[in-house]
Amino acid sequence: MASIRFEQVSKRFDKVTAVDNVSFEVNEGEFMVLVGPSGCGKSTLLRMIAGLEEISEGKLFIDGKVVNDLPPKDRDIAIVFQNYALYPHMTAYENLAFGLKIRGLSKTEIHEKVMEAARVLEIEPLLERKPKAMSGGQRQRVAIGRAIVRNPKVFLFDEPLSNLDAKLRGQMRLEIARLHKQLKTTVVYVTHDQVEAMTLGDRIAVVNKGKIQQIATPQQLYDQPTNRFVAGFIGSPPMNFIEGKIEQSQGGLTFSDPTGQLVVPLPDHSVPSAQAGQPLSFAIRPEHLHTHPAKGEQHYAAFTAQVQLVERLGHESFAFASLGGQQVVARLAPEENVTVGERVQLLAELTKGQFFE
Ligand code: ATP
Repeated sequence: MASIRFEQVSKRFDKVTAVDNVSFEVNEGEFMVLVGPSGCGKSTLLRMIAGLEEISEGKLFIDGKVVNDLPPKDRDIAIVFQNYALYPHMTAYENLAFGLKIRGLSKTEIHEKVMEAARVLEIEPLLERKPKAMSGGQRQRVAIGRAIVRNPKVFLFDEPLSNLDAKLRGQMRLEIARLHKQLKTTVVYVTHDQVEAMTLGDRIAVVNKGKIQQIATPQQLYDQPTNRFVAGFIGSPPMNFIEGKIEQSQGGLTFSDPTGQLVVPLPDHSVPSAQAGQPLSFAIRPEHLHTHPAKGEQHYAAFTAQVQLVERLGHESFAFASLGGQQVVARLAPEENVTVGERVQLLAELTKGQFFE
């Protein structure tokens, strides 16, 4: 187990700044997920931990020691890639044993470690097969096994499940979570998939344009996103952003959409420099819009929107509706029946709404 700390770290490739003055810490034994859109710099952050990418500025610490100039082989870190990177001419057993052989371990030691990893990953029946005779999921298990046999201080995963179909991804997600519980090794896991991030991470760092936007537990990220990027990135379907402006009314400042239908009082301090006329977005998650009042909730802003599309998933449905041309999506219970073309009244739970400037 090890801790990892980035201190004002930047990485530049010629004119591209891939990582921009980033500081954060991964605690010992923690499962940290780096999530963000393509090109945001998350793989570069991971590759810097592995020592595969030089650091342009700042310091990287592993277990309190600066490792900027420490070669990858001396870092005691194992990395699992998206494309497995198995040796095609070797059996699964030989793939697992290879790194240990190079390190000069005895045959008995190698056998013990390989069999232990195979047991943990339930791949014993595959050990004599070559990669081409295995499914994608099985190959990925062998690739993870190759990392486990080394018993490293840190596991790095770079989009390990992207090549698998949806069902297998779900299954492997559970296995990786189980492995972490069992091995308790520090993990840094890169993905662009917010479901993977939410389900696996002890904490999640949301990355955009080379900067960390927010680091928090999955629930904190969902409930209290610090900015509009995080609010829009975490959650599916994403949070609704209804554009409007601040108006002065008798009771104080309010948010109002251009149709004037959706009026939301601005609580004190919710928008620090609020002034009448200023543009503002009201953000509300799809599950906080209802056709009928929710149990125990009393504070609503009601508005009427025209339903344009209904996606029924059985246990719930998503109603996509237009509020004066702005699309809003509501996550409805099966009994909240709405039909395409209908003008429906939606109730926004005010305690759940947020404002973004
Ligand atoms: P993806 O999910 O698509 O892999 P990412 O978030 O992992 O994206 P990085 O691979 O870290 O992103 O890349 C961050 C930025 O740095 C991108 O703009 C990329 O084009 C650039 N970049 C990465 N590696 C190099 C390189 N060797 N030379 C030049 N630019 C690079």
